[in-house]
This record gives sequence, structure tokens and C-alpha cells, in this order.
Amino acid sequence: MSINDYKDIYVFIELRENNINEVSFELLGESNRLAQQVKDYEVIAVLLGHNVKPLCQELIEYGADKVIVCEHPLLKEYSTEAYTLVLTNVINQFKPDIFLIGATTLGRDLAPRIAARCNTGLTADATHLEFDKESSTQLLLVTRPAFGGNLFATIVCENNRPQMATIRPKVLIPLVPNSNRKGEIIDFNVNLMSNDIHTKIIDIIEKKNTGIDITKADIIISGGRGVAKNFALLKEIAQELGAAVGASRAVVDEGYAPKEIQVGQTGKTVRPKLYIACGISGAVQHLAGMDKSDYIIAINKDKEAPILKIANLGIVGDALEILPILKDEIIKLKKA
Ligand code: FAD
Repeated sequence: MSINDYKDIYVFIELRENNINEVSFELLGESNRLAQQVKDYEVIAVLLGHNVKPLCQELIEYGADKVIVCEHPLLKEYSTEAYTLVLTNVINQFKPDIFLIGATTLGRDLAPRIAARCNTGLTADATHLEFDKESSTQLLLVTRPAFGGNLFATIVCENNRPQMATIRPKVLIPLVPNSNRKGEIIDFNVNLMSNDIHTKIIDIIEKKNTGIDITKADIIISGGRGVAKNFALLKEIAQELGAAVGASRAVVDEGYAPKEIQVGQTGKTVRPKLYIACGISGAVQHLAGMDKSDYIIAINKDKEAPILKIANLGIVGDALEILPILKDEIIKLKKA
């Protein structure tokens, strides 16, 4: 079998309590963009779970040409073994050229196992995908931060298929859903026995909701070491703006903010309409998580701070003097 026998772009659809994770829509959107560059290439969503068929239409609206549905009671909850087994079977049967998975906790667990079973390579935690225009095959150039985020490495999988990658949430843009889109639904015959799974779920502990999810917020006001001891002020402004509070890693490492609001390479990637960076220097690892925000305001004492180079509006000054004024102005505007 030659690599030319492999075809199409497949996207693993991640579910949380039978809701489609946003990253899956982002991957479908990007796959659509890529598939348009190759004659006869289609975007194929692979959906695993129990009673998940009603979700197929939504996937088609977001760009899937086909949906392969793998329904089985043992797929209701995620298990590494069961999902690896079923997805490996799907890959062996359908021969995808490209197989994409979100770089979520689940995706990072799943993807390397599938790659090993399929004897192929995997580029993990990618931020950019494109085809190599020089190549006669559909060679995918997968870019990811390397060496602590100081360099970007572009990785190819020349000799094995599928070309696999996990892609960070929020770096790609989903399509606007189109309810007129039509697609094909394929039922996959799942062969799974309970003794294929060697772990047992004893209990599920719900994650405590500790505030606005920064990856979903339209406005984020983020604090760095320059305002580390003044997060209460950031929270007050966030409340007035209906915004979420974010933080740099320096602040998280020093214990002033929880890890779940860390923005950056080892934190969350965010893409809000407005990102306000207060007392953040703008290290590459921080920028990697927020530089695609629609509009960036940076407040920094140091006019040479790198964050000011990418900001749409830079304010050189003491954030501890500027932020109280900002808060008062917002309150005044809201009353007006
Ligand atoms: P600093 O770099 O110390 O900057 C503080 C800034 O505040 C300065 O620019 C200063 O001029 C300004 N300032 C001080 N006082 C005031 C004031 N009163 N008013 C206005 N401005 C003021 N970092 C992340 O953020 N996210 C990540 O995910 C991440 N991942 C990493 C992964 C790796 C592998 C590595 C090696 C590093 C990572 N880092 C990450 C760390 C990153 O390199 C920086 O160290 C970190 O972002 C610095 O945080 P900071 O900007 O808050 O602090």
C-alpha cells in the first residue's frame, strides 16, 4: 500500500457530556480550508459515543462532508483503551491521509497511542497547518512552538500515514455554521467488549466552577508581575466590564492567581475581542496564548516592553495609577 492510497482529512470529535467541544469545530473549519486545496478531498468527522447520532447534522453544518459514527454503550464515557481501539480500526479501514485531534487533555492522552498503533508520526500541540506547495503528495507542514516557545518548529511526516497532529484550542477559526449544508452519515460497526477496557470508572467528580472560563470570554483583563498583588482591582474592573480575569505565568507561579486562568504556551490560548494586559512584559510564551486577540490594550511602565509592540493600543505608565481611573470611567459610562 502506498501513501497515495490514503485520502481525506479526518477530525476526531471530542464530546463533553454529549456536547461537542469547540476545538472540534475549529478543526473542521481548518480542515475545510485545507481540503479545498486538494482535488476530491473531503472532511470527515469521526464521532464516538453513545446516543450521539443526533449531533451529526451540527458537524455537517460546521464543515464535515461525512460523519463516521461509532456508537456503543462502552463509548459513553471516554476511556483511553476503548477510544484507541475504535479509532485505530477506523483508520485501518478508511485510510485517512490526515488525522487531527484537539490538543485538549483528552486529545493529548489519545493521539500518541493511536499514532503508535498505526505506526505513524504525531506532531503534538500544533498552532498552524498548511500544505507543502513543493510536494507532489499532500505533505502537511505542522508548526508548533519549540525550545520553550523561543522557536517555531515545522514538522512533516513524509513516509507514514496518516499524518497526525494535535492542535491547540483557539488557534484556528471555525466556519460559520450553514444549516443548508448536506453530508453523509456512515455507521461504523464497533467491535468492543467490556474486557477490552481494563479500567473502571468508580466515581465522577464534577469540576467546581470558579468563574468565567477565559477561553470563552469576549473580554479578558490580564495581570502580570507588575500588578501581582492587585488582582482584587482587576477583578473589580472585570466585573464592571463583564470580563474574565487572566494572568501571566509569573503571577501563577508566585501563587497570586490560579493556574486555570494562566494565558500562554503552558496555559490557555485565548482569542477574545479585547485583551487588556496589565503589568505583563510580553514574553513569547505569553504572546503565544493571546496574540490572536482581536484588539489588545497593554499597560506597562516600560516603553520597551515587548507587549507594547503587538498591542493595538499601548499605554506607558503605572497600571496601579491607571486602572483605578479606568474603573471609575467605566462606571461613569455605564451610568450615562
Ligand atoms: P515580568 O516579565 O516580570 O514582567 C512584568 C512587567 O510588568 C514588566 O514589563 C514591567 O515593566 C511591568 N510593570 C511592573 N510594574 C508595573 C506597574 N506598576 N505598572 C505597569 N507595568 C508594570 N508565561 C506566561 O505568561 N504564560 C505561559 O504559558 C508561559 N509558559 C512558559 C513556558 C516555558 C517553557 C517557559 C520557559 C516560560 C513560560 N512562561 C510563560 C514564562 C515567560 O517566559 C515569562 O517569564 C512570563 O510571562 C513573565 O510574566 P510577566 O510578564 O508577568 O512578568
